[in-house]
Amino acid sequence: MSRRLATIAELRARLDAARADAATVGFVPTMGYLHDGHASLIRAARAECDVVVVSIFVNPLQFAPDEDLAAYPRDLERDLAVIDAAGGDIVFTPDVAEMYPAPVATTVTVAGLTERFEGASRPTHFAGVATVVTKLFAIVGPGRAYFGEKDYQQLVVVRRLAADLSLPVEVVGVPIAREPDGLAMSSRNVYLTDSERVVAPTLHRALVAGSAAISAGERDSDTVEAVMRRVLDAEPLVTPDYAAVVDAGTLERIDPLVGDVRLLVAARLGRPRLLDNLGVTVPGDLPAEPGDA
Ligand code: AMP
Repeated sequence: MSRRLATIAELRARLDAARADAATVGFVPTMGYLHDGHASLIRAARAECDVVVVSIFVNPLQFAPDEDLAAYPRDLERDLAVIDAAGGDIVFTPDVAEMYPAPVATTVTVAGLTERFEGASRPTHFAGVATVVTKLFAIVGPGRAYFGEKDYQQLVVVRRLAADLSLPVEVVGVPIAREPDGLAMSSRNVYLTDSERVVAPTLHRALVAGSAAISAGERDSDTVEAVMRRVLDAEPLVTPDYAAVVDAGTLERIDPLVGDVRLLVAARLGRPRLLDNLGVTVPGDLPAEPGDA
């Protein structure tokens, strides 16, 4: 059975004792309403660390005033059962007053990377994420922290902030858990109506179409983006935000496509905005053999 702790002091005391016994601490930050994607992060941590800490905190700093903070789905009892089944040891459930006892004057911003894609439509989002992640790292002191590739830009932002601030944590990316029809699991999928749920895998289909174009030899990023767009545009319930193919490490545009690239899509479908992405390794042209014409 996992142990639930709600204060920073209790959590620190517990983890200080574990570290004094040379235990390694793995950390999985979440906003709760857990599904099998979260469970896969917890299982990855369980396989690699002595003590697995899962936090559940719906962080107000990363929601804009017009977003779904108050309505964000919550079910603590079920979350605790998911965490137990996946092998979590400690569940950290601070309330907002515990995390932010005073108005926040100090925030963390990761320039550049956060201005595009999710940052373009949610301009304060990544500063909220970077601030809470830095704070949680300071509270938990993990050797390894596990983030889903589902929120790919977030993963790249967290890697960058850990590197830039020399935080002593290894940031581990975990593949996307999907429903059988391809839809990436997300706590926000609960907002989808039945008819929206039926068309929600369109995002994944767009990625697969983009990836297939690359496999067929396409190396022009505009063309691959147009292929993905066409799949999204064909579905009237889907309002696309972006469909892009970028360098997997920097999220910069890359043309012609080569190396590790990431296909990214976001679209509104009824109430929620859905995100999805797919990694593709594009082989470089083979070097010409001496003597080739
Ligand atoms: P959230 O509770 O939405 O803040 O997500 C907490 C963590 O779980 C983040 O690192 C997410 O990227 C990750 N996550 C969410 N959905 C999935 C998924 N379908 N597959 C893998 N990881 C996920």
